[in-house]
Amino acid sequence: MLLAENLKRLGTETAFEVLARAAELQRQGKDVINLGIGQPDFQTPAHIVEAAIKALRDGHHGYTPAQGILPLREAVAKDLHKRHGVEVSPDNIVIMPGGKPTMFFAVLMFGQPGVEIMYPDPGFPIYRSMIQYSGAKAVPIALKEENGFAFSADEVLAQITPKTSLIILNSPGNPTGGAVPKEEVAKLVAGLAKHPQVAVMSDEIYSQMLYDGREHESFLRYPEIRDRLIILDGWSKTYAMTGWRLGFSVWPKSIVETVVRLCVNNHSCVNAPTQFAGIAALEGPQDDVVKMVKAFDERRRAIVPMLNQLPGFTCVNPGGAFYAFPNITGTGMSARELQNRMLEEAGVATVAGTSFGIHGEGYIRFSYANSIENIRKAIERVGTLLMEKR
Ligand code: PLP
Repeated sequence: MLLAENLKRLGTETAFEVLARAAELQRQGKDVINLGIGQPDFQTPAHIVEAAIKALRDGHHGYTPAQGILPLREAVAKDLHKRHGVEVSPDNIVIMPGGKPTMFFAVLMFGQPGVEIMYPDPGFPIYRSMIQYSGAKAVPIALKEENGFAFSADEVLAQITPKTSLIILNSPGNPTGGAVPKEEVAKLVAGLAKHPQVAVMSDEIYSQMLYDGREHESFLRYPEIRDRLIILDGWSKTYAMTGWRLGFSVWPKSIVETVVRLCVNNHSCVNAPTQFAGIAALEGPQDDVVKMVKAFDERRRAIVPMLNQLPGFTCVNPGGAFYAFPNITGTGMSARELQNRMLEEAGVATVAGTSFGIHGEGYIRFSYANSIENIRKAIERVGTLLMEKR
């Protein structure tokens, strides 16, 4: 078969490999605690599920407009106004089958040989994978522990060249839980005035999961870059809807038609009942979101001190999302070695920092989307493993 060359440059999410191995161990009868998974361990709230069932019963079985049904885009616009205090026209909103397609399409649109695209490292692995697939040069933005894994606007601006077409940013961040302070966002936007050719894709999928009174500073709040700003957001994390495949994005007016064309070529539209569920999520009671975020915060407060007590570990307090990203260099093991030993010898699934880029060496991602009881048991097992090693 004559497979396309560029497929050799396509990466993957190794988190799925860890999950597969964890499942295999479980099939063999081993007790594995999963702190590797990047999805809420809650059920989608009942009223959202009911809205999808009702939509099916009401006969919403057909194609919808590729951009998404208007009532859903209107609900998204209202939600963005409520959360960020900004006006966004439903015409600039595109409903997507999850958060991922927005990054896929954005990179397809801005990536080609000869250009550079910047992306967070450690960061969501699909950014780099897609950039390389497009033929563009992938330029990492190193996220550092001493900055709480927030990007430094000065460092981002210093890496821009005349070839830079797109900067991808993500706060709160996967895998670090880092939350970027407002000042850095403002500084970056101010600096971008000198680089009018550079577009920004801000991945704000964890924007409702922030702790210690932090407020999310959306790039939407800066009208001066709206004409080159793409926002990635969605329902997966906020409403525990990862399997529904529902996301949305905001695009500049000048390219929204092109994105919709990509949607027509690719998936036609998002499945109809899911879109009705999305309306119910945004317009219905938000109590379940508040409860979930509170539960994540309690787990965060539990896991971070436990990680800090492990020999060879130090862990900064994550500001958002549901991940802790401890520094494990004191164990003397590489991230991959420790990840494997924790899984094989202690039955604890986590993901090595190197799965998220070269700057992830020396770190492990612990997802705290699990019960406090399981978190405690898992950390105790890791403690025993590390003591045995000494
Ligand atoms: N962006 C980030 C930073 C993520 O961590 C994830 C999922 O883990 C996504 C996007 C993709 O979300 P979805 O499952 O809605 O495609």
